[in-house]
Amino acid sequence: MSNEQPLLLIISSPSGAGKTTLTQRLLERIDNTRFSVSHTTRKPRDGEQDGREYHFVGKETFEHLAKQGEFLEWAHVHGNLYGTSRMEIERAGDARGLIFDVDHQGARQIKAKVPDAVAIFILPPSMTILEQRLRGRASENEATFRVRFDAARNEIAHYGLFDYVLVNDELDEATENLTSIFRA
Ligand code: ADP
Ligand code: 5GP
Repeated sequence: MSNEQPLLLIISSPSGAGKTTLTQRLLERIDNTRFSVSHTTRKPRDGEQDGREYHFVGKETFEHLAKQGEFLEWAHVHGNLYGTSRMEIERAGDARGLIFDVDHQGARQIKAKVPDAVAIFILPPSMTILEQRLRGRASENEATFRVRFDAARNEIAHYGLFDYVLVNDELDEATENLTSIFRA
């Protein structure tokens, strides 16, 4: 058992910029690093599994957990509730790193409670490419696309809160840069 705290890495981006893709690639490259599985009231997308991408819960359950103080942070995002359970940090045990995929509201709350956490913001190379990526993702219909694309500018406006900003243009290069930040 190691007594060292895991490195807490917060990864945020406007929806569609590639944070899920980059996080998965980082997890494949770094041993003993875990992904913090959030709770959400949004419905699972095709291929998503309860307990893997998210803990999918109803609004009542979520609100109950929030009232009990079970969340390290939580926020309204795109019309749904999302939160990080405190249990995720305990579950990380003696892992080397723990990665949080949260929006800017979540990043702010985690940084306030754990100042050593490192926050990285992923940007798309352009809004046109963000639109292409978001539309290209099979899970998006026109309504969910619109909500996410319209929210992107607001999300991007908060980049100043982050320790690093990374442009996800060429995937291998962005993965390399993200891995370097983690190792540093
Ligand atoms: P997010 O988790 O930020 O919402 P995703 O990781 O789901 O974004 O990526 C959105 C879409 O863009 C996916 O279809 C993904 O395969 C694609 N994508 C991600 N990064 C790149 C990249 N560097 N170049 C081209 N396509 C990418
Ligand atoms: P999606 O529904 O596309 O998986 O995620 C939508 C947004 O919710 C993304 O910006 C993602 O970072 C954010 N998000 C996911 N989990 C959490 C969480 O636990 N807390 C907060 N604050 N945001 C989250």
